[in-house]
Amino acid sequence: MSRETSVDKDSLLRRHGLQVTAQRLAVLRAVSVRPHSTADDIHTVVRVEIGAISRQAVYDGLGVLTDKGLLRRIQPAGSPARYEDRVGDNHHHLICRTCSRMVDVDCAVGDVPCLTAADESGYEVDEAEDIYWGRCPECVAATSRSTEAEGAHAALDTS
Ligand SMILES: [Zn+2]
Ligand SMILES: [Zn+2]
Repeated sequence: MSRETSVDKDSLLRRHGLQVTAQRLAVLRAVSVRPHSTADDIHTVVRVEIGAISRQAVYDGLGVLTDKGLLRRIQPAGSPARYEDRVGDNHHHLICRTCSRMVDVDCAVGDVPCLTAADESGYEVDEAEDIYWGRCPECVAATSRSTEAEGAHAALDTS
């Protein structure tokens, strides 16, 4: 980690009116290195970096950084929240149902047209969170490999 990057994160915190603490810096760094991590993942990474830190301190740090807009929180249905530092560009996410890997996907239609809901009911919309569920290429490949193997086996049985 270069000195410059840590200075950047220092000033990022200050610009958002946050006190610079080793824990917040470590949380911020962990999220930028491993985007779409859960709070538990971040806790593991931060502990390796700065030593003892309670899970609660990591949760608090993530909460404050998210509230201030430095981090974005993604809450997929039925699974733990993930955090990332790619904020303010309204991108979306793909999640693998099999291995839970999450990747970024740019907005399908361009800049922000998906912020225009069919019926906004008078709400001033500033974020649309689309999550596409499916299977990642690795999991699809793994499944087709095992299907091929079964097929080969079946062919042997019938011969
Ligand atoms: Zn997968
Ligand atoms: Zn993302």
